[in-house]
Amino acid sequence: MSIISNSLKRIKPSPTIAVTQKARELKAAGKDVIGLGAGEPDFDTPDNIKNAAIEAIKKGETKYTAVDGTSALKQAVVNKFKRENNLEYSIENVTVGTGGKQVIYNAFMATLNKGDEVIIPAPYWVSYPDMVLLAGGKPKIVKCNEYDGFKLTPKNLKKAITKKTKWLILNSPSNPTGVSYTKDEIENLSKVLIKNKNIYILSDDIYEHVVYDNFNFFTIAQISKLKNRTLTMNGVSKSYAMTGWRIGYAAGPKDIINAIRKIQSQSTSNPSSISQAAAVEALNGTQDFINTRSNAFKERRDFVVNKLNKIKGMSCIKPNGAFYVFPSCRKLLNKKTKLKSDKDFVEKLLEYSNVAVVPGSAFGLEGYFRISYATSMENLKIALERISNFCENLN
Ligand code: PLP
Repeated sequence: MSIISNSLKRIKPSPTIAVTQKARELKAAGKDVIGLGAGEPDFDTPDNIKNAAIEAIKKGETKYTAVDGTSALKQAVVNKFKRENNLEYSIENVTVGTGGKQVIYNAFMATLNKGDEVIIPAPYWVSYPDMVLLAGGKPKIVKCNEYDGFKLTPKNLKKAITKKTKWLILNSPSNPTGVSYTKDEIENLSKVLIKNKNIYILSDDIYEHVVYDNFNFFTIAQISKLKNRTLTMNGVSKSYAMTGWRIGYAAGPKDIINAIRKIQSQSTSNPSSISQAAAVEALNGTQDFINTRSNAFKERRDFVVNKLNKIKGMSCIKPNGAFYVFPSCRKLLNKKTKLKSDKDFVEKLLEYSNVAVVPGSAFGLEGYFRISYATSMENLKIALERISNFCENLN
């Protein structure tokens, strides 16, 4: 008999972390690999935030805090939702966890019974289906095609709903495609959700501040009829280049928030007290960093998308958020190139051209791959040259 539990056998390790690890190993072995797999900003955490953490250490803020966050941080989250999204919450509606990842995991552990379905539009962030499976739920994957901008349509949403549907996950801007839902698109999805009164919505807004071209970010809790059924998750990882600090948060109905607290109290307890102090400064302090950083990302996005679209057999839509693009390599999968799948493409690209990217199938949509442009322009120039040469030699 295996020591490993049945629930663990249902899941797989994160494929994006695996690619990053593989690229690291090849680099350590002396290969000149460029990793375009990372899901984190390459910028450093701003100084004002670092200094707030140093101050917290000096002041002795080094003890346990309230399980799901200090009142100072919860208040900063309440203010953030009011200031940026025009959403009113009280601190009882807010929970803080060790990264957005923990908040989502806890939310599913707290709410899913065996067989409950969670609608996950694909391509999706790799962790959603596995988290649902771990919690005993059933991921209901809805493929969203390129012609719909990789977005869920009201028609496809309607088709996916059953009596067992408990949650819908919306992630905008999206990992892995970078596409974002407009206010109109969210309003159209809302019409279906308002009619289906038992469905809750998990809105993953972690890339809210990584948007371009004056995109007007809109989140589904702003639809008043859905606010009391929406858990809006966000965090400081991507907005303030704080992935290692591990602070994520959510606002939503008190019963869910209380259930999340209960799980956290019996598992990890509070997120790091020092990281919480840093997150207070991130949310309350100057927001200048966001614009400077977004301008740099925008330049990289434009460069990458233009280059990709010049490659024969490749096409890439220009997304307005996050730091990913999701080009199609479908036309390169054929007898002549001897490539059968996106996995083949990605493996050969790494083997022959030393560029690490993640296959679309890891995100639930085959025939594509994800590039993270959260790396320097120099790296991107070399990487795109290599991808271009690799594809030319295939053709
Ligand atoms: N949601 C999405 C879509 C992500 O891409 C990530 C991180 O990669 C997270 C949530 C979790 O972020 P963190 O746990 O660093 O706050």
